[in-house]
Amino acid sequence: MKEIVKPLLAWYQENARVLPWRQEPSPYHVWLSEIMLQQTRVEAVKEYYRRFLEHLPTVQDLAEVEEEELLKLWQGLGYYNRVRNLQKAAQIICTQYGGIFPTEYHAWLALPGIGEYTAGAVVSIAFGKKEPAVDGNVYRIYTRLRTDGTDITKTELKKRVRQELLEIMPEDPGGFNQALMDLGAMVCLPNGTPLCDQCPLQTYCKAHQAGTELSYPVKPSGKPRRIEKRTVFLLEYQGRYLLQKRPDRGLLAGLWEFPGQEGHLTLEQVMDGLQDLGVSADGHTSDITLIGKAKHIFSHVEWHMLGYEIHLSAISDKLRDHGVFCTLSELRDTYSIPSAFAVYLKYLFSDPEKNIEK
Ligand code: SF4
Repeated sequence: MKEIVKPLLAWYQENARVLPWRQEPSPYHVWLSEIMLQQTRVEAVKEYYRRFLEHLPTVQDLAEVEEEELLKLWQGLGYYNRVRNLQKAAQIICTQYGGIFPTEYHAWLALPGIGEYTAGAVVSIAFGKKEPAVDGNVYRIYTRLRTDGTDITKTELKKRVRQELLEIMPEDPGGFNQALMDLGAMVCLPNGTPLCDQCPLQTYCKAHQAGTELSYPVKPSGKPRRIEKRTVFLLEYQGRYLLQKRPDRGLLAGLWEFPGQEGHLTLEQVMDGLQDLGVSADGHTSDITLIGKAKHIFSHVEWHMLGYEIHLSAISDKLRDHGVFCTLSELRDTYSIPSAFAVYLKYLFSDPEKNIEK
């Protein structure tokens, strides 16, 4: 593996991506960007990253910010546990470390939401520590270079890759790790054919020599996602829409959502469902509109949703206790609503008759 270091670093010097968090790679910046980049494309992260730092420029700001404001800054990135753990870790850094970032790999690994990859990325890039940052990009490059057919979920592969990278780690570990990230993102591509003719490691790559690049990495056969049908209610009363909090555990834990019910309900069933919410169907629901279907894909579940907008002329205490009735401007600016409901939010905001308050 030693032979890959020089050509890889030379390639990186010429081809490194210009990314906002690379301009000033402080531990806070590297950490924040790495957390945002989990499950999210680089292009999508850039604007979130800029806005987040504009509001919360220091780890102290992050530790102290109100949860609602924090979630709002994260809205649309999904996987909200990431930002909750980010804040928990910031609070630990402020209380246990006096606001000074730890420099050691194992100290980072002990913080909430930080795995081996992120700990390695932060300490190598921000502190120049010789720690690998092994993610999907690195597994893909490694298994292709070596024609290693081990299932990438196996611990033995993880240990092997980490050990071999540790052995060849050069004087600039941050540069080396970022070179692998960029090679994986730009050349040794995850989907479709890798651009081997542009690859600095071509002469060392066994898969390329054998023409078997696409056989690696070997992944376990995944289970199909569970389909959950849901009916979503946009319940409007006097220009405000009802939001309720999801349970503290499980999918989208503790986030705001539009109320709903399992299954795809017919109009008649919707009327019955309203009764469960304490709204009498006779005479109080003045208007029900079928908005239509929407789909949202989580890692293990797919929501197939059917939405209704329901204008209420009266509400019960039971319904009031269900959550909060929000104006459209509050829906837009104050409450963080998961992107699973993006289609329905778009529906609310795209209707000119709704006159969003400024
Ligand atoms: Fe990946 Fe091709 Fe480079 Fe091998 S030669 S590391 S398969 S891009």
